[in-house]
Amino acid sequence: MLLASCHCGAVQIEMARKPSTVSDCTCSICHRYGARWAYYTRKTANIFCSPEAISAYVWGDETLAFYHCKLCGCPTHYESSDKSATGRIAVNARMMSPTDTQGIRVRTFDGADTWKYLNE
Ligand SMILES: [Zn+2]
Repeated sequence: MLLASCHCGAVQIEMARKPSTVSDCTCSICHRYGARWAYYTRKTANIFCSPEAISAYVWGDETLAFYHCKLCGCPTHYESSDKSATGRIAVNARMMSPTDTQGIRVRTFDGADTWKYLNE
């Protein structure tokens, strides 16, 4: 089991396993957040926080909702805004402890342009 937490601790995410890779995306929002995304599903990642603790940011084609802690501002995770069938959740690996994520391969995803992984 692996734990992720925002800086103040109001948002906690429990995951079944360590990610094998994390994605550093070049799109306009991920670039600003400086996030590294680890992918899970609603079955393999559980989010613990009061509904008032987080806020969602939805933009562009409105398919994704980016959540951040209202108190400390950390972007914690995103998921499809309709919470659709796939149940996919991306957890910001920056919220995990550096010792837990040490050595995990970082893949660069060109979300700004080609929608492909670069350098592989
Ligand atoms: Zn917080």
